[in-house]
Amino acid sequence: MTDRISLTLAQADPDVAAAVDHEILRQHEGLEMIASENFVSEAVLEAAGSIFTNKYAEGYPGRRYYGGCEYADVVENLARDRARQIFGGDHVNVQPHSGSQANASAYAAVLQPGDTILGLDLSHGGHLTHGHRLSFSGKLYRPTFYQVRRDTELIDYDELEAIAEREKPKAIIGGGSAYPRLWDFARMRQIADKVGAVYIFDMAHIAGLVAGGVHPSPVPHAQITTTTTHKTLRGPRAGLILCEQALAAAVDKAVFPGQQGGPLVHIVAAKAVAFGEALRPEFRTYAAQTVANAKVLAAALQQAGFRIVSGGTDNHLMLVDVFEKGILGSEAELALGKAGITVNKNTIPYDTNPPLKASGIRVGTPALTTRGMKEPEMRQIAVWIAKALDQRNDDAALERIRGEVAELASRFPLYAWRRAPVAVGV
Ligand code: PLP
Repeated sequence: MTDRISLTLAQADPDVAAAVDHEILRQHEGLEMIASENFVSEAVLEAAGSIFTNKYAEGYPGRRYYGGCEYADVVENLARDRARQIFGGDHVNVQPHSGSQANASAYAAVLQPGDTILGLDLSHGGHLTHGHRLSFSGKLYRPTFYQVRRDTELIDYDELEAIAEREKPKAIIGGGSAYPRLWDFARMRQIADKVGAVYIFDMAHIAGLVAGGVHPSPVPHAQITTTTTHKTLRGPRAGLILCEQALAAAVDKAVFPGQQGGPLVHIVAAKAVAFGEALRPEFRTYAAQTVANAKVLAAALQQAGFRIVSGGTDNHLMLVDVFEKGILGSEAELALGKAGITVNKNTIPYDTNPPLKASGIRVGTPALTTRGMKEPEMRQIAVWIAKALDQRNDDAALERIRGEVAELASRFPLYAWRRAPVAVGV
């Protein structure tokens, strides 16, 4: 090993290096419109790729089970302090490896296996970890679900209250992965208090908007708030938990040793960097532009004749009902992919198609906004989306749009160290 330790990736493993280089090109040339994705800064990338990946640091700052943790403590304390500065809240745990593990830990902190939980139905915008039968959350706990109203496609809080009174959940979970509207945090807390449930809010999608001050915060309302750090918050791929002081010890124990061993110290360092960025005034501008872009894009798609679920968006994402035009979400995803626009198929409320086909696509603006795109680009992209879906069976037409997309992308440079793919592997 010692003779190979100083080789570069390209020297040591040309196949993986080639895949990385192709991915660099893909991210630079396309339009990344998956609502849960973003581009981290070079500083965040550097910390995530740092030598901290070599370090074990089980435990928490000042209370580790390993020696040599003095610098691990520095970055974890920075991440904790900055997260609290951004979001408030009594206590923060920055160690969850992912959003799913943050949720698993939050539940473990306040629930026993078999307890009833009440979350937003996945096909109405929720998340797998909010009780889906294929997730740990639906296997370990007894899941019940609330939905959106058929007429408004907004959360039906009256139904939520009725279900809560009937099912007596131990936890009510707010948040989701495809809900384009604001949440009534106060009402949810009121319902949770009424039935003796803990109110947990998963703000994974909107955390960056909350950090940027352009979206109300669930933190003052929920006893536990969880999030990913890699979506609108623009940090490394990971999770985070904020909670009331009374639950601090239970949450910490649930993360380590409950769900995880050693924290990913390199990722904790990258979280510290990202949180530092989120505290800067530019991040408020970024968050505001992300929402402004989403509103303009939704309106432009409506003008192009598409039905937007719930009639628009209050955040960074929208659900486009493509099946209303006879197009499956899976077909739309494929056609837009060929045109260089990356989105994902998504069920819409009361969908009549199965999830792998779906009636909608989910479209988001966080990544393009990071590249510096604004309202004029959103209007242009709406035109391309409409055209690509109209000409979805014409590969030559999609290729032409792809060329125009690449030209636009080249005007909004991403990373300075972009390289051409090496001609091996892949
Ligand atoms: N919670 C919500 C609301 C999400 O949208 C996601 C991911 O999409 C997660 C949790 C899970 O995050 P991860 O992929 O990091 O496990």
